Amino acid sequence: MANVAVIGAQWGDEGKGKIVDWLASRADMVVRFQGGHNAGHTLVVGGETYKLSLLPSGIVRGTPSVIGNGVVLDPWALKSEVERLSGQGITVTPETLRIADTCALILPFHRDLDGLREDASGAGKIGTTRRGIGPAYEDKVGRRAIRVCDLAHLDQLEPQLDRLTAHHDALRAGFGEPPIDREALKRELAEIAAFVLPFAKPVWRDLNEARARGRRILFEGAQGVLLDIDHGTYPFVTSSNTIAGTAAGGSGLGPAAVGFVLGIAKAYTTRVGSGPFPTELDDEIGERLGTRGREFGTVTGRKRRCGWFDAVLVRQSAAVSGITGIALTKLDVLDGFDEVRICSGYRLRGETLDYYPSHAADQAAVEPIYESMEGWQQSTAGARSWAELPAQAIKYIRRVEELIRCPVALVSTSPERQDTILVRDPFAD
Ligand code: GDP
Repeated sequence: MANVAVIGAQWGDEGKGKIVDWLASRADMVVRFQGGHNAGHTLVVGGETYKLSLLPSGIVRGTPSVIGNGVVLDPWALKSEVERLSGQGITVTPETLRIADTCALILPFHRDLDGLREDASGAGKIGTTRRGIGPAYEDKVGRRAIRVCDLAHLDQLEPQLDRLTAHHDALRAGFGEPPIDREALKRELAEIAAFVLPFAKPVWRDLNEARARGRRILFEGAQGVLLDIDHGTYPFVTSSNTIAGTAAGGSGLGPAAVGFVLGIAKAYTTRVGSGPFPTELDDEIGERLGTRGREFGTVTGRKRRCGWFDAVLVRQSAAVSGITGIALTKLDVLDGFDEVRICSGYRLRGETLDYYPSHAADQAAVEPIYESMEGWQQSTAGARSWAELPAQAIKYIRRVEELIRCPVALVSTSPERQDTILVRDPFAD
């Protein structure tokens, strides 16, 4: 039996919510290890839709859930998500939610800074969700952050506040903003501390203990490998490492604890916001993928850019992240096309490449080399076995596997949990 890490193999929004929910229903513990309240998972459980931005997906079913040290935590966003779930009948308690006391906090001025920078950058926008996640990670690495454990020692906060305000007041002055209201911040922290502290603890101990007792741990990644701060399409990336390796470092377990790495990939490609996207379709096919796939962001409502499946990118994600098997989602969105295409390589200034180059200018300049396949007219929606798939759809999946050099472990054919073809059970490995 393996623990399982679930990560996005593209630019996020791969449909992780459904797969994570299915795995979470069989896990003893669900752990988030990076990112912030920008995960945007949609879960449909018992006919009710839950939207989670920060909390691990296990929370909906009452599975003990952990926010690991690699996450940056907005305590006010936490409170409102907990209250929203409570309105849907889900009670979050210190038994069901544990938060690493070493998490760095996202503070109100981080959010301000995110917005100010995006507004000032015009066409050079990174496309952040303006939630302060990037600035909070900057302060963490800059060793200025206020962490969850500091909330229990607010009387000792002055030296940290000196460092933080010196740094941020200079930045704010550059944008013509007033300095941080230190007294107001202290009041807000004291108020929110009472809500957060009951959940806070050294979660690495719980996790190591769970592991020693043979419990199944599910590591729930947010965003996708192509948004990884090191391996993604820099600078159009997120502020954390989204690769599976982070599941260990971002939670306090060793790398061998991770086990099976399940990479989620859509049967086509989407991207939200700015940044290179070689297979993007600016035509009616792209429109059709977006409409059929309902490609609008869960958190931001932004329309996603759409294009054909890029096997070069997913192959690269699988390699840098050590993906054991792929969950191929939204196959049904490709139903009814006369022709489907897969990008199998790139052309760059007369050369052929079998990988995505590192420099942003090269990433923007590559032209996809496509393989064309006959599409299928029958519906795959709701298929739960290979026998229910048209031959052409099976051919498509097999070709994807060959090109990405990684087996398909699951195929998803509708938003419903049961509408899944299970090839290989990640937990059974
Ligand atoms: P995540 O951030 O990776 O969890 O992705 P999102 O939740 O933003 O996007 C997934 C969306 O696609 C949700 O609305 C799901 O209900 C839906 N979805 C997931 N799997 C499938 C599938 O196989 N087919 C179709 N048509 N929709 C799916």
